[in-house]
Amino acid sequence: MRALPASTLALCGLIAAACGGTGSGDAGGRTALAHAEARTPSPAHKATQQAPAAPVQESKPLDGKVVVIDPGHNGGNYRAPTAISRQVNVLTQWKDCDTTGTATNGGYSEAAFTWDVSKRLAKVLRARGATVKLTRNGNDGVGPCVTERAAIGNRAKADAAISVHADGAGPGAHGFHVIMPKKIGGPVDKVVAASRKLGLSVRDAFAKGTGLAYSTYLGRAALDFRSDLGGLNLSTVPKIFVECGNMRNATEAAKFTDSKFRQKIAVALANGLHHYLEA
Ligand code: ZN
Repeated sequence: MRALPASTLALCGLIAAACGGTGSGDAGGRTALAHAEARTPSPAHKATQQAPAAPVQESKPLDGKVVVIDPGHNGGNYRAPTAISRQVNVLTQWKDCDTTGTATNGGYSEAAFTWDVSKRLAKVLRARGATVKLTRNGNDGVGPCVTERAAIGNRAKADAAISVHADGAGPGAHGFHVIMPKKIGGPVDKVVAASRKLGLSVRDAFAKGTGLAYSTYLGRAALDFRSDLGGLNLSTVPKIFVECGNMRNATEAAKFTDSKFRQKIAVALANGLHHYLEA
């Protein structure tokens, strides 16, 4: 900032109100000013400081939007093989109720990763005004089944739903991809187009925000369409899966175990959802 001429600074000293003081002489006003000055002692800053504005209820960009976040798997699934192998109908086939997910070679589980990213994502979206619901409340439980994970999004009448995962492919494979539903002659058909739009928005924001490459082993330009996932087949709201990368790849595993990188992922996902929801 350009320094102010000495004459202006002198004027500030004489007339506090002209330079950000309240001028009213009330104790509250002086306290507020003192706090502000303690943080910003520069005279140049003081000269441009505004009196604190009255608190107003600011509207936020995602006010009124409902987002359901589904953190893939659950930390307790390893302990409950019978419960999670119960067969459920996902319309195109019968499948296990839920699965354990993968892990890095160092033992950081996909369930822990998806839980952490989802919590961070929820925080970012709530700060932007969205109403957010998660499909599980912690990382020590079992399930829920994929059928219930879809039902939670449907019951919430979510404007968008996202299931967060990371893959367990061969060590040389890397990159992320987004999975979207296909028409199956079922209730998901009417949200296939919207889900594709959501998927494109999240794909673009994820690439930009994380710098991770498009998957080298699945999909085309990080886009994949599937009709075998219960979480998608049973959804009546726009929904996608994101496979954030390959946990078995050493470079990506190092990123996923870094909390700063997980925050980067969460912000990127939030930006993708945000762009879709505002369109
Ligand atoms: Zn998964």
